[in-house]
Amino acid sequence: MKLLMLVGPSGVGKGTIVRELRKHRSDLWLSISATTRTARANETHGVDYYFVTRSEFEKMIAADELLEWAEYAGNYYGTPAAPVQDHLKDGDLVVLEIEVAGARQIKQRLPDALDVMVLPPSLADLRSRLELRGTEGEAARSQRLQLAQAELAAAGEFSYCINNDTIESAIDQLLPLLPAQ
Ligand code: 5GP
Repeated sequence: MKLLMLVGPSGVGKGTIVRELRKHRSDLWLSISATTRTARANETHGVDYYFVTRSEFEKMIAADELLEWAEYAGNYYGTPAAPVQDHLKDGDLVVLEIEVAGARQIKQRLPDALDVMVLPPSLADLRSRLELRGTEGEAARSQRLQLAQAELAAAGEFSYCINNDTIESAIDQLLPLLPAQ
């Protein structure tokens, strides 16, 4: 089973790592999560996320359609189980970009999953990344920074931590950890 969880605070650069990793791993398939968060201007339904209502999300929970789910900054986020199972069966390298609470659930359900936390070089760096990204207002940004501190405090729970100081170094740290193609 080739399942990689990339865990780490919002803004740490998990998305950039996955984009870069694709160049090295043609077997990579990125799971598309469901969320109740509002889409950002540059996001597309069915590509970045499945944007759903709270009641639609709660129906997915009730129908046991999610491999894991969590509430983060007032919104639900979850991984639809069926596509993950299909791609694992096909032998793909399945990648989940998730936060800590969801990662804990995956570790319980699928103990063979590879769990990697992505660390920012510093909190100040994370703050400036979130500012540069410009996708949240001041209040949401400081909430995400607070949540980031709690997430980083859980780093010891993960099998591996990689430091995202530059994308090249993050990829160099990640590639040797991955199951063979
Ligand atoms: P954002 O709103 O910045 O897109 O995501 C907020 C946080 O939720 C990020 O840490 C992101 O990785 C995480 N996240 C995205 N999708 C999922 C998911 O399906 N499950 C869980 N548990 N977290 C997710």
